[in-house]
Amino acid sequence: MARIVMKFGGTSVGDVNRIKNVARRVKAECDRGNQVAVAVSAMSGVTNQLVNYCSEMSPLHDAREYDTIVSTGEQVTTGLLAIALQDLGVTARSWQGWQIPVITDDAHGKARIAEIKGEELIRRMEKGEVPVVAGFQGLGPDNRVTTLGRGGSDTTAVALAAALNADRCDIYTDVDGVYTTDPRIVPTAKKLDKITYEEMLEMASLGAKVLQTRSVEMAMKHGVRVQVLSSFSDAPGTLVCDEDEIMENALVSGIAYSRDEAKVTLVGVADQPGIAASIFGPLADANINVDMIVQNVSQDGSTDMTFTVGKADLERALKVVKDQLKVPYKAIKSDKNVVKLSVIGVGMRSHAGVAKTMFKALAEKGINIQVISTSEIKVSVLIGEDYTELALRALHTAYDLDAA
Ligand code: ASP
Ligand code: MG
Repeated sequence: MARIVMKFGGTSVGDVNRIKNVARRVKAECDRGNQVAVAVSAMSGVTNQLVNYCSEMSPLHDAREYDTIVSTGEQVTTGLLAIALQDLGVTARSWQGWQIPVITDDAHGKARIAEIKGEELIRRMEKGEVPVVAGFQGLGPDNRVTTLGRGGSDTTAVALAAALNADRCDIYTDVDGVYTTDPRIVPTAKKLDKITYEEMLEMASLGAKVLQTRSVEMAMKHGVRVQVLSSFSDAPGTLVCDEDEIMENALVSGIAYSRDEAKVTLVGVADQPGIAASIFGPLADANINVDMIVQNVSQDGSTDMTFTVGKADLERALKVVKDQLKVPYKAIKSDKNVVKLSVIGVGMRSHAGVAKTMFKALAEKGINIQVISTSEIKVSVLIGEDYTELALRALHTAYDLDAA
């Protein structure tokens, strides 16, 4: 017997028939003798609709009322799924975040889960009841409903699995697993059987939008094994787990890309102590995240400094630099037509040559690298956006990731 949390995303519960399909899957898991708790999203499109209502009512609406409104989508799904399960003869009960409770901080609209009180649910599961839990919502210290940020029901599911001491958290979605790269761009991309938490964190935060990043952090922290799989097929999914569970770590497990970044170059900045602080201090104060940074060696007492920020922050970043930079510089340039490609793999901790392979493959295609950054398990390059497809395919082949 195992204890399993099953989570179903918006498309999996998109209409009444799909909810019936979900109920059959849950029943099958119970019939295998397992204890099951379910976490659900709102039916697809519902949360967007609710968010729009808030903006239409008032562009600068109160965050507490936003949470009151957008949390309702999940409530509907819990009730419908509980009914569908009951119709199949499964004892089931719906649970809203405040009823369990899922205790969060007071950051309305993007609250963090502090604790889930799991005792009552465990007691009921042991008697054969299936709790159907609303994802995405919790209870704040002000005793009001909170929501966890878009995509937050993944995080609910993982936190629930931790609180219930579950053996696994199965995330059912509209893709059947995590791929070596985006299969829409590289048709030879392969589904991974297993991936480590750390690699998944890099993949998730780099735009492989399978799991909410926060849910992966939560899984890593609590050691929750997470399986990503499709609710529309019976194919095995991808297990996100600890490195110890993977026999041989691939040098490169996957290649992620992000079109969300823009490049800023400060030309001819005085090369003196404190310049980096005087550029990046004001950016940080303005809550602008800087990702990649390069600074050249100075020839004549001045240097060029290049960095990337989120595309959405570019105009603000340029203004902050122009208004606040105290050191002299010649010019400031920016470029939005860039993409960041990252090769990711825990195996590169113990092997040399990963970056070399990347640079060679890009050079062979005549692709110019504008910025490079590395971490223990990742090498990232910034290149012109037009080369995204070409570069992804070339790298996929260079690291032998193509499906046979
Ligand atoms: N329904 C919420 C959203 O669309 C939460 C989720 O689906 O994970 O963002
Ligand atoms: Mg989702």
